[in-house]
Amino acid sequence: MNKYIELGDEYLLHTYNRFPVVIERGDGVRLFDDEGKEYLDFAAGIAVYGLGYGNREFNEALKRQIDKIMHTSNLYYNEPCCLASKEVCDAAKMDRVFFTNSGAEAIEGAVKTARKYAYLKDGSTDHNIIAMEHSFHGRTMGALSVTGNAHYREAFEPGIGNVKFATFNDLDSVKALIDDKTCAVIMETVQGEGGIHPSDEEFIKGVRKLCDEKGLLLILDEIQCGMGRTGYMFAFEKYGVKPDIVTIAKALGNGVPVGAFAMKEAVAENSMVPGDHGTTYGGNPFACAAVLEVLRQFKERDIVSHVRELTPALEAALDELKDKHGIVKDRRGAGFMQALELDCSVTDVINRARENGLLVISAGANILRLVPPLVIEKDDIENMKIRLDKALSES
Ligand SMILES: *Cc1c(COP(=O)(O)O)cnc(C)c1O
Repeated sequence: MNKYIELGDEYLLHTYNRFPVVIERGDGVRLFDDEGKEYLDFAAGIAVYGLGYGNREFNEALKRQIDKIMHTSNLYYNEPCCLASKEVCDAAKMDRVFFTNSGAEAIEGAVKTARKYAYLKDGSTDHNIIAMEHSFHGRTMGALSVTGNAHYREAFEPGIGNVKFATFNDLDSVKALIDDKTCAVIMETVQGEGGIHPSDEEFIKGVRKLCDEKGLLLILDEIQCGMGRTGYMFAFEKYGVKPDIVTIAKALGNGVPVGAFAMKEAVAENSMVPGDHGTTYGGNPFACAAVLEVLRQFKERDIVSHVRELTPALEAALDELKDKHGIVKDRRGAGFMQALELDCSVTDVINRARENGLLVISAGANILRLVPPLVIEKDDIENMKIRLDKALSES
């Protein structure tokens, strides 16, 4: 057996059933394993590597920063962090941002901000938060507590408490849960891990209106669906809805671990103060150099328009596969965040796809998820179709 797989299986905590592949390097939208086999990558490290692998300018920007300084702590200002703060706020149309090291930490910060905001309003700490069934917000205790998958939470209860779960895309179910002590609603604009479910327009607008009427904060988790993935810089733009707090991560650092939560000034000035929140690494010069270069390339290459232009081709390719293969029941998604719902387990299809040189992932037992790098071209879509067609035929 491969010596790295042997080592990993012996020493890594067994929290993942990894596929038996050792990824060694990447080039554009392709990955290579340690035996030199090539894969067309429609997983992007779980919607992370938006700008593709071996991106020369991105790599150079990181190298330049490494030679200057990687870390300073947040006790001092640093150039990349200050520049990135403006760029992220501009991109998200928010006023203030806090940089984290991961998506889950961005959720933690957003939830803490909502609780502090409510605490300052009435001096009490018994507020509740409404989250959604089938949501996914991360694996730390706070993020897990608002994740709508009982199986993930079960062994780790009690969580942070005072979290209620509504049905996604059912406005009445949200309405029914709101009481005097509700302080926030948290949801993904497009549910990712839960099976790729975009918000209905009526639902997300209705939630925004409810929040406005009742004085609740709307936290939109755009960790997966943000950063251009749906053909909008942030998925909420499509609906003309603005959150009070937005969480960002995954594609924000193009592989460098970095996340953020950003908010409107009205929230910032009535919530967190020095001492309320912190992080040793968050927003360090290295991570923020990555963020800056990512956002620079988004502008220079107009990544968002690229996704929007190629979305019909991706959808058409997947629809073709749906029509051809009986095991495919549905195709849904937004932009480059697409799913094929199967009438069987996806594991076989994922394995056959990999053998045919295509990496895809799941989003639930029977949902095949495609979240390619945002820089794929028409050829790559055609190539994906051929390889996935084979995989579906063999499954
Ligand atoms: C991945 C993800 C998270 C958690 O991010 P981590 O970086 O894994 O902690 C939270 N919310 C959504 C919507 C995600 O897709």
